[in-house]
Amino acid sequence: MFEIIDHIEIELTVDHVLKGQGIDPARASDRVRNAALEVLEEANPLLEPKALATKLPVLDFAHETLTFEGGIFEGPLVKRALAGAAEIFLAVCTIGPKLEERMKELMGSDMIKGLALDGAGTAAIGLVSQAVTNKLIAAAENSGLKTGMRAQPGQEGWPIEQQRVLFSVLPAEKIGVRLTDSCLMIPRKSVSFVLPLGKDLCEDAVPCDFCSKRERCHWRREKQVAAR
Ligand code: SF4
Repeated sequence: MFEIIDHIEIELTVDHVLKGQGIDPARASDRVRNAALEVLEEANPLLEPKALATKLPVLDFAHETLTFEGGIFEGPLVKRALAGAAEIFLAVCTIGPKLEERMKELMGSDMIKGLALDGAGTAAIGLVSQAVTNKLIAAAENSGLKTGMRAQPGQEGWPIEQQRVLFSVLPAEKIGVRLTDSCLMIPRKSVSFVLPLGKDLCEDAVPCDFCSKRERCHWRREKQVAAR
């Protein structure tokens, strides 16, 4: 069961456009600030924010491997972010292709404006993914559950190839997002993520607390002996 989220209201500001380019608004030159102002009017109507999300039960967690209904996620970041989850939200968010198409046109004629529009796109997908995360957190809290750290394949500690697992579960083409052979998302201004939820998630828990191998794990025993 999937949910398409297409009522995502975001409004870019000049500061968003500058920060999206990695520029501190307080230090932006007049030329760069003016380019950001110029693209702002053009950028907002080019945004088509959409997301697709689902929630799936976790079947097992052992060391760096989380098995859920539909697939397996593996990696050090999986261990750190998802240990203790009873369920996981999976989501893909995008701003659609229009801003990117216009940005490519501009790069050939006015690079400063093109870069400003690219920054607007980066800022916009950040706002969209945060809005979707907030919505999922609110849904979990309404069910009396806690959420943990948001993580995504391709971040340090989670091989980008695992995007294939996420995309095998979520039919992202329904919101116009596809994966290339090298596991990049098209449109480029798209974000995928996993958000853990459950009753047992708490800040002072460690992954070994939730591991199905914990009673017979020699690494854990060695760590306990070393800590004495
Ligand atoms: S109990 Fe052992 S296998 Fe499980 S997470 Fe800890 S170190 Fe890894």
